[in-house]
Amino acid sequence: MIKLSSKIKHDFKDLKPFATRVNLNFDNRTSNQDSFLKKDENKIIIETSRGTAEILDNTLNIEDKEIILFYPKVETLKRFYRPSANSNSLLLTELCDQRCIMCSQPPKNKSYDDFSLYKEAIFLMPDNAHLGITGGEPTLFKEPLFNFLKQIIEKKNDFTFHILTNAQHFLKEDINNLFLLSKNVTWGIPLYSHESKAHDDIVSKDGAFHRLFDSFNYLLSSGSQVELRTVLMKQNVDHLTGLSNLISTKLSWIRVWAIMQLENIGYARMNWKKIFFDNSEDFSEIEKSISILQSNNINLNLYNFPFCTVPKDFRKYAKNSISDWKNKYIDECNNCKKQKECCGFFEWHKNDIGYKNIGTKFL
Ligand code: SF4
Repeated sequence: MIKLSSKIKHDFKDLKPFATRVNLNFDNRTSNQDSFLKKDENKIIIETSRGTAEILDNTLNIEDKEIILFYPKVETLKRFYRPSANSNSLLLTELCDQRCIMCSQPPKNKSYDDFSLYKEAIFLMPDNAHLGITGGEPTLFKEPLFNFLKQIIEKKNDFTFHILTNAQHFLKEDINNLFLLSKNVTWGIPLYSHESKAHDDIVSKDGAFHRLFDSFNYLLSSGSQVELRTVLMKQNVDHLTGLSNLISTKLSWIRVWAIMQLENIGYARMNWKKIFFDNSEDFSEIEKSISILQSNNINLNLYNFPFCTVPKDFRKYAKNSISDWKNKYIDECNNCKKQKECCGFFEWHKNDIGYKNIGTKFL
């Protein structure tokens, strides 16, 4: 597991949070937002234009050109952008208006909507970089979020975002803003069933399914890019065919449909026995869905499916989707030649309650 924050000791006079781009070579600094990392008798020191900070967790392997947020008041740093990461994302809020039974990040009354600080950090990132925005529900801050995105895109028109949203808050009057963002933003939106009640039960919100379809209309009208997401569970495995038909008829304009395996944390951990569906034992419903989507020319991805749990013919859909900071491989993966392509497991995966058929002998 890669740590994304650390306590610091610092001599900053100004206690306002700030962003800095770390250089491992002193001569590569190009602006006063560039800092220099040096190792001094086992201490890791970052010299910035505001002063000097010592990173107290010396297991943090800060990279060259990494972007860091300093929070001097609470003597903390957060790693905002790691150039080598397979994904960099920003948790905007832990607030949410849904209570999905498999939520990996159960809602809390906490938000981190410091858009001006994030802008400062993003302007230090390379031009064509990509950032994920997650929650909670980011569109609870819809107006400031739209403004933030537009300001970034205006200056960095190659920059792209992937934003996870329950799409419960888009309105007809957002179409213009959505259009302005449409080339740079992909909205990752969950849909769990073709039946409204089943979807509403999974997200614990009456009317969510119908509200979602209002939003789909606005997203379609604005030319927005949508990645539809369906977490696979016992509750909806038998709905996959119906859902595939619905997607093929009403949502064929989406960019991709992602069927996702569970992350054993948060509510998913609490509800694991009731909801985990082991695709290594039965892949038939997913197989039917894939064939429906294939015949309708709709893209499909499988996220968080270890390679060896997927029948050979369908492995091309399984993506290496787990972020590097929370990914692991288990004993069964030793000597597996597929590790580079395979997503492996979440750090918190428990093998004894996970897949029955796992390991190189199933490849
Ligand atoms: S053995 Fe491990 S690395 Fe290999 S395919 Fe299975 S889960 Fe992936």
